[in-house]
Order: sequence, then C-alpha cells, then structure tokens
Amino acid sequence: MLELWKNTLKSLQDQMAAQHFEAWLRPIRASVDGEVLVLKVPNKFAKEWLTNNYLEMIRDTLRGARGSDIALRLDLDSSATEEAQLAPVPTEALATPSAPVEPPRSTPGLNPKYNFQNFVVGPSNQLAHAAALAAAQMPGRKYNPLFIYGGVGLGKTHLVNAIGHALHARDPNQRILYLSAERFTNDFIDCLQNKKMDEFRSRYRRQCDVLLMDDIQFIAGRDQTQEEFFHTFNALYDGFRQIVVTSDKYPQEIPDLQERLVSRFLWGLIADIQAPEMETRVAILRKKALAEQIPLPDDVAFFLAETIKSNVRELEGTLIRLAAKSSIDGRDITMDLARETMRIAAPTHVTNLTVEEIQRAVCTYYNVKLNDLKSERRNRSISFPRQVAMFVCRNHLKTSYPELGQKFGGKDHSTVIAACRKIEALLHTDSSLQSAIETIERKLGLAS
Ligand code: ADP
Ligand code: MG
Repeated sequence: MLELWKNTLKSLQDQMAAQHFEAWLRPIRASVDGEVLVLKVPNKFAKEWLTNNYLEMIRDTLRGARGSDIALRLDLDSSATEEAQLAPVPTEALATPSAPVEPPRSTPGLNPKYNFQNFVVGPSNQLAHAAALAAAQMPGRKYNPLFIYGGVGLGKTHLVNAIGHALHARDPNQRILYLSAERFTNDFIDCLQNKKMDEFRSRYRRQCDVLLMDDIQFIAGRDQTQEEFFHTFNALYDGFRQIVVTSDKYPQEIPDLQERLVSRFLWGLIADIQAPEMETRVAILRKKALAEQIPLPDDVAFFLAETIKSNVRELEGTLIRLAAKSSIDGRDITMDLARETMRIAAPTHVTNLTVEEIQRAVCTYYNVKLNDLKSERRNRSISFPRQVAMFVCRNHLKTSYPELGQKFGGKDHSTVIAACRKIEALLHTDSSLQSAIETIERKLGLAS
C-alpha cells in the first residue's frame, strides 16, 4: 500500500504545479492502518485545505493506480515539529489549484475557427454535440473515451477542436494534445528511429491531460502504432484523462483495427454525426454567410441547401465560390448567379433517395414484400434481399447503422453492420450478386 502511495505521489506531482505539490502533498506522511491508508498532515489548516482541494484528485489517482477504491483517512501528524504545525503557508500556494501559476499554455494545433459558438446544432449532430460539451465540462468523467464518427465534412474535426478550446478556456494549464492519428503515427516512427521512445511516451502519457485524436482510422493496419496507441490509451484512461477520437467509421467497421482497441472504444460513448437536415444546412449557411459578411438571400440559401446534402464542407465551399463569383463579376448574389455557379461545380454524389425507395427497388428485384423485408423472418429468400437492401442503403445514403436498423423493422445496429460486411465480402466473388446490385442501382438512378 505504501508503494502504491509512492507511485500515486509521483503521478500527482506530474499533474500539479510544483509549488502546490511542495506546499501540500510533499509534507504528507503516509502509513497504513489495517485496510486504511492514513495520510498524516502537519496541521489543521493543511488538513482542511487538502480535503477541500485535493482529496478527490488523490482518490482518483489512487483508484486509477489500483483499479479499485481505497479507504483513505487524513490525520494530524502528532510527530510533526511544532514549527511545522504552526508554519505559515507560502501565500502563492494558497491560490486554488486550478489558478494558473505559469503563463497559460497555448494549445498548439487547435484551429481557432472551430468552436462551440459557431457550431450549428441540429438533429443530425445533436448527440455528438451534447457529448462533446459534456466531455469539455467533465473531462475524464462522463464519456471516456468519446468516439465521434461520421462521414467526410460533417463536423468531426470542428467538434473535437471545440472541446479543446472549451477545456483550455476553463483551465489554461490543462495539457491538451490535439493531433491527427497520422501525426501520431509519424511522430511514433520518428521517435522509434531516433531512439526517443521515452520522450514519446512521456509526451503522450505523462504530459497529457486530454488527448484529442482526429481520424483514428488512419492507424488501422499499422500494428506497431496501434500497439503504442493502446498503451497510451490505457495510461490516460487509468489516470482519468479525457480521450476523444474521431473516425469516419464505426469502430467495428474500421478494417484492420485491432479487436482490443475496438473494445476500448466501445467502453465509452459512441456518437455519430449524420448528414445535416435541410433546416440545419440552411442555418449553417446563414451562420457562415454572417461570419464572412456575405449577403445571402433566403431563396439562394435554400437552393444551395437543397442541392448539397451530404457534406458541410462542400456546402460552405459552394457559398464561398458563389461569393467570389459575385465579387469578381460585380453582381449581386441571386438565384441566377447561384444556378450558374452550381452548374460549373455540380456535385457528383448527390442523391435524394430515401431508405424506403431503396427497399422497394430491392423488393421488386427479388420479388419479396416490403413487410417481409422489414420483418424478423430469417429464411434466406427474405434475409438475403434484406441484407442487400441494407448494403445498398449504407453505400448510397448517409444513414447511420442504428437508424437503418430502425428502418428495417427495429433491428439492432450490429445486425446491419454484419449484413453490410457480408454483402461486401460476397461481392468480391459472386458475379451474379454484382449484377443484381448494379441492376438495382441503375433502377434507382445510382449507377453511373
Ligand atoms: P470532418 O472532420 O467531419 O470531415 P470538418 O469538421 O472539417 O468535417 O467540417 C467541415 C467544415 O464544415 C468545417 O468548415 C466546419 O466548420 C463546417 N461544419 C461542419 N458541421 C458544422 C456545423 N454543424 N456547424 C457549423 N459548421 C459546420
Ligand atoms: Mg476531419
């Protein structure tokens, strides 16, 4: 137990400003009383101060080191010298623990444009937004790890940066690491080659309070990097440090991601971002137009939002192009100008299809009833078309797995994932399936 305390003390030292550590933690003398760890402090004032300001942190760190709670008691140290008992406390140590004692750390790498204020919340991203806020308010406590997934250009990077900014604003001394998995990988390779792994580990495990890792799918298939990330994850997680990762896929769906990492990600909260609804797209456009001082008439906003549905980056890009064209040509932004601009840059992968339209097309092709497709029936003549329909939906719509499950008669998201995987695998070898799917896609106007 005393060994445990020694290690805990070391880890606390890493978490705290040096002055605070020297003033409050260093003088503690530990002993063991049965099952109870007794921490002896030199005077009443120290006892009170520790109780109010550090006890929780001490408990957390101990719990992190041992894996379970430990009984703890603060006692007055009768053997402390009278001097220590009466010793005045250095005034600088009386600042509350979170008050900056060093110049505030900057948070390198965070994009100043991506904060919570300018993130538009709608049904498509509500859960991810709420989870991100909670992670920023209660780092390491509520949702750890937080796994945000969603398609390209839907705001993952924006949200994860927003968490960083909010945490930094709350406590400028918090050590926030924001980076892409690609940078993590490169950094790892670099340190490995230059024999600087100690430095690497210290940077990501000890000198880090919050790890924000963007595009984790990048480490898939890179076993050594995954191994290193796994240990980084464990170290941070055990120390109650917040971990947020983003990905363009659901954990189980990332190919070649080690099972143990998948299961770690499932420990926390998985929040998906879907393509925004019409109203959200309009709101995003308006907000962006306001920020960039672009006069955007309502009809044009709706026209753009109606045309570009599945990618916010593309939506914003079109607005910027429109504004550029307007200023180059010296014309106001009107529907005519918008139509011209859109003709030049017509997005290629826009589809208005609904899940039900795809389901119907698949039913027609295989000659099954829509009700059966959504039923629980498991005979192959029905389950196979059902799986094909799930696969086609997933490939062409931005509907999330859970939502798809719901639209197929309340199936679990894991059923949908399994179906998509199966069909995808079959497609490699089964040419009749290939042509079936092509036919269905052509009917729906999806095939090129
Ligand atoms: P991802 O990382 O998911 O590919 P980004 O976070 O880079 O997407 O977002 C792409 C662009 O769209 C960014 O400029 C971002 O600010 C913007 N964006 C995405 N979602 C929203 C939203 N809900 N509100 C405001 N801007 C958004
Ligand atoms: Mg991104």
